[in-house]
Amino acid sequence: MAIIKKFKAVKKNPNHLLGIQDLSFPEVSKILDEAKTFIKLNKSSSKKIDLLRGKTQINLFFEPSTRTQSSFELAGKRLGADVMSMNIVNSAIKKGETLIDTAMTLNAMHPDIIVIRHQDSGAPNLLSQKVNCAVINAGDGRREHPTQALLDALTIINRKGTVQGLKIAICGDILHSRVARSNIYLMNMMGAEINIVAPKTLLPHSIEKLGVKVFTDMKKGLDNCDIVMMLRLQNERMQGSFLPSAREYYEYFGLTPDKLKMAKKDALIMHPGPMNRGVEIDTNLADDINRSAIREQVELGVAVRMACLKIYCQSI
Ligand code: ASP
Repeated sequence: MAIIKKFKAVKKNPNHLLGIQDLSFPEVSKILDEAKTFIKLNKSSSKKIDLLRGKTQINLFFEPSTRTQSSFELAGKRLGADVMSMNIVNSAIKKGETLIDTAMTLNAMHPDIIVIRHQDSGAPNLLSQKVNCAVINAGDGRREHPTQALLDALTIINRKGTVQGLKIAICGDILHSRVARSNIYLMNMMGAEINIVAPKTLLPHSIEKLGVKVFTDMKKGLDNCDIVMMLRLQNERMQGSFLPSAREYYEYFGLTPDKLKMAKKDALIMHPGPMNRGVEIDTNLADDINRSAIREQVELGVAVRMACLKIYCQSI
């Protein structure tokens, strides 16, 4: 309950992309429409345009990232911005500098946009109050990961034509997942029906209040679904033991051909990555190009981040 109340307390701020909860349906549509225009550019032989020429983008990643950081870096460069990715390991943060001091230091260099990932929920909101530029949340603690949900929506639209009316199962470590939360907000807003599938220990208290159906039996949760969205076990956020073993988890909550049979014949498999093969998902299913949209999620992620950089660089 406390967790959900905290999410509701987040303030709307149109100049920053801090969470899906802050966005209206027209704002989401604008981002997705912009993103669609970049899909073709990203496939062409000349991928660079001048749109953000003269703008400075700083990527500030306090947590490890492969996809999101490289995707934001490429997105900024393709739009012509000067992109600097801070090397946190060699920065003053390691010498004890606070987030606010880091923010003030970066602010003095007049960036136009800061992309931040942080282990603490709410860190991007705090940063946005201290700097003069736009801030994009690239994942904060277990709270939100808005660009992941937006790229998931774009992937679904690309494959299924719409999100409206689809039945989406979000499966795995819901408790610690910012991807799950952003997707619940977004898919709900876009008119999908959402099933949450997880062991009891990985379910947030009162999650059904977010407008989802809850299942602890994966086969029941996948019944007749159009989309099967798997999540990574967020071991780095687990203190103590949430699961008996990875093997048992795979047995009951890993996506296997047998469990997938419960979903629609043409159900799409998604995963935000990084994946733990043989723990969250059967390795052949992950690579099955007819069923899995996992690579497409990465591809469309660049287009979504280009759209967000364009819109928010111009918002301040
Ligand atoms: N890459 C996603 C995130 O940063 C998913 C994950 O790490 O499991 O939240």
